Amino acid sequence: METIRTIDWMKQAARQARAESRIIGFVPTMGALHAGHTALVQRAKQDCSPVIASIFVNPKQFGPKEDFTKYPRTIEADSGKFSAAGVDLLFLPEATEIYPAGFGSYVTVEGLSDRLEGRSRPGHFRGVATVVLKLLEIVQPDFAYFGRKDAQQVRIISQMARDLNLDTEIVVCPIVREPDGLALSSRNAYLSAEERRAATVLHRALTAAKAELAAGTRDSLRLQTVIRKILEAEPLAAVDYAEIVDADTFEPVARIARPCYAVLAVFMGKTRLIDNLYLEPVGDSGELTYHL
Ligand code: AMP
Repeated sequence: METIRTIDWMKQAARQARAESRIIGFVPTMGALHAGHTALVQRAKQDCSPVIASIFVNPKQFGPKEDFTKYPRTIEADSGKFSAAGVDLLFLPEATEIYPAGFGSYVTVEGLSDRLEGRSRPGHFRGVATVVLKLLEIVQPDFAYFGRKDAQQVRIISQMARDLNLDTEIVVCPIVREPDGLALSSRNAYLSAEERRAATVLHRALTAAKAELAAGTRDSLRLQTVIRKILEAEPLAAVDYAEIVDADTFEPVARIARPCYAVLAVFMGKTRLIDNLYLEPVGDSGELTYHL
C-alpha cells in the first residue's frame, strides 16, 4: 500500500489509473478503523482495482463543542489495517492541504441536511458534503462506498452526487455490528465499561421494533412507543431522537408503506451513539424486509 499526502500526487495517481482504464473504488474515513471500515474496503475490492481509501479527521464537520480534538487518531494501526484489507493507495492529507488559508467554498444539500442529525449537529452535514465533494473531485472514483450506519449522511451524499452530476456511483453498505448487536463506531472507544454494556440498548430497541413489525404493526407511533420504552428503561441512556422516517426525505411518516428508517441517536454519558433499522416493503402484500 502506498501512502499519499498531497492533493497533486493523489490526483496524479488517480489520473494514471483512469488512463489505464481501471475501475477506481474509494472509501473515505476519519480513521480509528474497525471492521465496519474494512468491510467497505472488502466490498470495494469486489468491484474495483485500485481501491483508494482516505483518512482525514475533517474539522469542518465538528461543532465547536464536539470532540474534534479528542477524536481517536490511531494512524499506525489504521495503516496496518488498510494494508491488510488490500487498500492499494491511502490518501492521508493534513488539514492545511484540504483547507489552505483563504478557503471559502462550501456545499449545502438543502432540506435533508436540517433534520435529525442536522438539527442536533448544526453545520455538520455542510462540513461532510464539502469534504466529500472535495475528495470525490480529487480522486474521481467510479464507485465510492459508505456505510448505512450513517444513513442520513449517505442519503445526503447521494443527493449531492445527483444534483452536481458527479461521475461517481455512491454504494451503500450494511452496518457491521459487535456480537452483542452494538454497531461498530470509532466513538465506542469513549464508552466506560458500564456504558459499553448499556449501549446494547440501541440494538435491543431496534430489535423490539422489528418484532413488532413482524407481528403486523405498521403504525409509526406504536413503533416509536416500543422503541422509546426500551431506551428510557436504561438509566445510562438519554434519547436525543427516536423516529420513524421516510428513507428518501428523512421526514417523519405515520405508517410504514414505503422504504423507511427507524433512526436513533442516544447519549451514553457524554458519548452520542447513532443506529438505525432500514425497512423495505416488498410487493403489495405489506410484507417487509429488514436490514438491522
Ligand atoms: P467514519 O470514519 O466514522 O467517518 O466512517 C467512515 C465510513 O465508514 C462511513 O461511510 C461510515 O458510514 C462507515 N461506517 C462506520 N461505522 C460503520 C459500521 N458499523 N458498519 C458499516 N459502515 C460503517
